[in-house]
Amino acid sequence: MAGEPQADCLFCKIVTGDIPATIVRETDTTVAFRDINPQAPTHVLVIPKVHYPDAAALAAADPQAMVDVLREAGVVAAEEKIDGHGYRIVFNTGAGAGQTVWHAHAHVLGGRGLEWPPG
Ligand code: 5GP
Ligand code: ZN
Repeated sequence: MAGEPQADCLFCKIVTGDIPATIVRETDTTVAFRDINPQAPTHVLVIPKVHYPDAAALAAADPQAMVDVLREAGVVAAEEKIDGHGYRIVFNTGAGAGQTVWHAHAHVLGGRGLEWPPG
């Protein structure tokens, strides 16, 4: 069924605790944890507990869950104190844009200068 956990999904396994992660926040609908290969001093991933392959699919199927992800991204930024300078919320979508995990996730990046446009 749409949104159900997928047996072969890394981030579904982080949601269930089958794969460990450094979790910084958890709500009824989201988990936020540190990226294993950080690209900035603060690099946290915020994921919905429901499984959808990318951010747009999540927004179409479960808009409230997408709002929850975005709200949590903002809370993480405030808790990590990167909101004053500015931070970036990134949803890589598709292999050509660098997406490697097919469970929707927001990258929250900050703590260094962030170039625009991004690479
Ligand atoms: P994507 O490339 O799909 O936009 O982002 C996937 C992110 O997940 C990458 O930044 C990668 O470093 C991170 N990642 C991959 N495997 C793991 C893992 O096992 N644990 C954690 N915490 N992050 C992971
Ligand atoms: Zn998943």
